[in-house]
Amino acid sequence: MNNLEFFVLGSGSSGNCSLLRLNNNWVMIDTGFSMKQTKERMRTHGLALDDVQDVLVTHFDRDHFNPVWCKTFAQRNMRVHIHEKHIGRAERAGLDERCIVPFTTNIQLHGSNVETIHFAHDALGTIGFIFDTGALRFGFATDLGRVPQLLLDRFIHLDGIAFESNYDPGMQENSNRPESLKNRIMDGSGHLSNEQSLAAICHIASESDLQQIVLLHLSRQCNSPRIIHDLYMDNLPEVHEQLTITSQDRCSRLLTMHTGNVLTS
Ligand SMILES: [Zn+2]
Repeated sequence: MNNLEFFVLGSGSSGNCSLLRLNNNWVMIDTGFSMKQTKERMRTHGLALDDVQDVLVTHFDRDHFNPVWCKTFAQRNMRVHIHEKHIGRAERAGLDERCIVPFTTNIQLHGSNVETIHFAHDALGTIGFIFDTGALRFGFATDLGRVPQLLLDRFIHLDGIAFESNYDPGMQENSNRPESLKNRIMDGSGHLSNEQSLAAICHIASESDLQQIVLLHLSRQCNSPRIIHDLYMDNLPEVHEQLTITSQDRCSRLLTMHTGNVLTS
C-alpha cells in the first residue's frame, strides 16, 4: 500500500487549496485560488493541472471555490465531488452539471474510501473528509465554527490531520473589525479559535497516532504562527515535530504519512 502525500498550496480567507495523493492520483481539496496562482504553486512540487482529475469541495464560499475554475473543469472533463446540499449553490456559481459528482455519505476514490461528514458552518454547512486507504487514514476539516461531538466521534484512528486554527481570541477582541464580523466568526458557525482547535487536536491525538498535524486557515489579521507555536509548546509539546502551520501566501512542504507507523517527515 502506498504512503499518503499531502501539501497545502495556501490556506486562509483569501484562498484555500490542498492536494492529496491517493494511490498515485492527485486529488484537489478546494479550489479557492486563481488559475495562475494555483498553477504556479503546483509547479513548486513539480505538478501540473493534468495531474489532477478529481476535486473535492468543502463548501462554496469564495475562498474555497473560485468560480473562475468552472470553465476549466468542464473543458478538462474533471470530476467535482460536492455534497448534494451544495448542488444548487454550485450551479449558481457556474459549475457545469456534467462536472458534478454528488455525494451524501461515502465516496470511492482511487481505491480509497472517503468518508464525508456534514458540519454546520453557514446555511448550507461545510464538509469534512476522512480519506481511508485501508492502511492509512487522513482527516481534513475547516471552517467549522465549533467542534461537534460528531467530529470527535468520527476523527479517530487517524495517521494525519489537516484542521482549522483560525484566530487568537485576544487578537480578535482587540482588532478593529466591526463587532458584527467578530460575532459572526466566533458565534459557533464561523471559525475555530486556536484554543478550540488545540482542544480538538489533543482529543484526536489521544485516539490516533498522528504523523502529520497541519493547521489551516490562519487569520491574517488575528493570528500568528508564533502564537500557535507557543500554544502547542505549552500544551502539546510532544507533537512539535509533526506540526505544520500553513500560510496564505506560500505552499507547504510535501508532507508524507507512512504505512507501518514510521514516524518521519
Ligand atoms: Zn474559508
